[in-house]
Amino acid sequence: MRSHTQYLWFNTKNRQEFINITPQVEEELKKSGIKEGLCLVNAMHITSSIFINDDEPGLHSDFSAWLEKLAPYGKDKYRHNLGGEDNGDAHLKRTIMGRVVVVAITNGKLDFGPWEQIFYAEFDGRRKKRVLLKIIGD
Ligand code: ZN
Repeated sequence: MRSHTQYLWFNTKNRQEFINITPQVEEELKKSGIKEGLCLVNAMHITSSIFINDDEPGLHSDFSAWLEKLAPYGKDKYRHNLGGEDNGDAHLKRTIMGRVVVVAITNGKLDFGPWEQIFYAEFDGRRKKRVLLKIIGD
């Protein structure tokens, strides 16, 4: 069994962003040379997520509106922020949208269902953050 590890770095302009990272993951899969196996992608920060869904702008603004209803931004809204932080909402959003995805690799390709794409979701950006990519197989 072979293994390929890579870290992707992000520093978003906005506090919240959704970025389609499928091309970067496919690039790493190509470099790995692995044809059959699993690809794990995980956000390494507790205020950002990795999720799989459609690359459709309407859906992304629906996600934003929905998350803002569930966990609105606001310094005085969360006990977490009593220590001086302002990202209580971002921790909750991260938990809802998830930490990790695993995609099967078949014949050297990410074996997606229809319209599936991998996204990095930033909820407390404007600073450097990392995503781990681990590809294992043969
Ligand atoms: Zn925090």
